[in-house]
Amino acid sequence: MQLAWGPEEEAFRAELGRFLDEHAPPEARRKRDFTTADNRDDRIIPTWARDWQAALFDHGWMIPGYPPELGGRNATPVQTLIYMEELATRGIPRSVHFPGYAIVAPSLLEFGTDEQKRLVPAAIRGDTVWCIGMSEPNAGSDLASLSTRAVLDGDRFVVNGQKVWTSYAMIAGKCFCYVRTDRDVPKHKGISVLILDMATPGIDVRPLRNISGSTEFAEVFFTDVEVPRDNLVGALNDGWRITQGSLAHERGGLWVQGVSFVQQAVADLIEMAARRGLDRDPIVRRQLAAYYEQAQGLRALGYKGFSSFAQGSSAPEHSYLKLATSELQKSVFELGMELLGPLGAVTDAELGEQSGRFSHSFFMSFANTIAGGSAEIQRNIIAQRVLGLPRR
Ligand SMILES: Cc1cc2nc3c(=O)[nH]c(=O)nc-3n(C[C@H](O)[C@H](O)[C@H](O)COP(=O)(O)OP(=O)(O)OC[C@H]3O[C@@H](n4cnc5c(N)ncnc54)[C@H](O)[C@@H]3O)c2cc1C
Repeated sequence: MQLAWGPEEEAFRAELGRFLDEHAPPEARRKRDFTTADNRDDRIIPTWARDWQAALFDHGWMIPGYPPELGGRNATPVQTLIYMEELATRGIPRSVHFPGYAIVAPSLLEFGTDEQKRLVPAAIRGDTVWCIGMSEPNAGSDLASLSTRAVLDGDRFVVNGQKVWTSYAMIAGKCFCYVRTDRDVPKHKGISVLILDMATPGIDVRPLRNISGSTEFAEVFFTDVEVPRDNLVGALNDGWRITQGSLAHERGGLWVQGVSFVQQAVADLIEMAARRGLDRDPIVRRQLAAYYEQAQGLRALGYKGFSSFAQGSSAPEHSYLKLATSELQKSVFELGMELLGPLGAVTDAELGEQSGRFSHSFFMSFANTIAGGSAEIQRNIIAQRVLGLPRR
């Protein structure tokens, strides 16, 4: 078995490396320590991040699998994987707001009208900030229960209802919003997607603070919000199909980010344990070794899945990786807090050990086990779609 890339792939990596060396701003290169004042900045998208995303787009490095006019270079799946690897290894983010380039753009390319497709380059370049209006107080995991209503009235829809946990809503220009357009059919058959301009009268955004202290998501209330009929994405009542999303250009490589992040977390933990002399404790050593081994194992599993993906088959391994990396992250940061002792759990620049680095990351790690489908829901999907177990 050979676990190395060939000369052509390495040439692609070298070209990317040269670009990153030359263009990546210092803020993107710095090892991201979530406890620094910089990262607690209330500006959700700092100027450097906006400029960096635009630079990636302009040089064809934002979504390498797309054509140049969409911020790419028609890269192959293997090249895209190398791109993900290189960014993750260097700890360089592409963007600090994913909905536009990762969800809205591929959905509009697949389901949008020609007019709507014209919104795609700005979504990928980050010029337009998008939010995704899916979750509601009574519709999260069971998204099909959503009740925000859109009633067609001539050439416009009138929207009433509420969304919650809407990331970036307070700074977004547009919302990709899931609404109920038919209440008299089975629930997943009466959903549509509308593009909402966030400046439309009747939209009220109320920011929510999360456990780590930052406010990146919000509740969004809609009262008689008028939306042009042309803003309907796809067919009326066919929104459920769009929830399945299309990340065809990136799917094979998306797992790398989670795996690299957890490997970095394990490396930081080992470094911290060594600094405090805890790496001589046999119980700690065993725990560190187990996490190291698990993270390495997850990377190997990712490559195995990628190999199937590159040959045109499904990659069930990748369904498991989001679940596994997010849960491992939680355990790694929790052990970090334990090893640091009583002040390890304090998130305070002066009182907290390492400014509360492990506790802050521990709090943040919950988000990954919930957002985009909770760990329990991931388990249900694996049970039914991968293992073929019956629904109860
Ligand atoms: C950081 C963050 C950002 C987010 N950003 C957005 C966003 O931009 N837009 C958006 O629309 N939403 C967003 N969300 C919301 C997210 O999609 C939901 O939180 C998620 O889908 C879970 O829904 P819920 O919170 O309503 O929990 P619920 O669905 O009420 O679940 C509560 C608990 O019950 C469990 N559970 C539910 N159903 C089952 C089942 N069938 N089997 C087993 N267990 C079950 C869940 O796993 C969970 O532990 C975000 C969430 C987070 C944490």
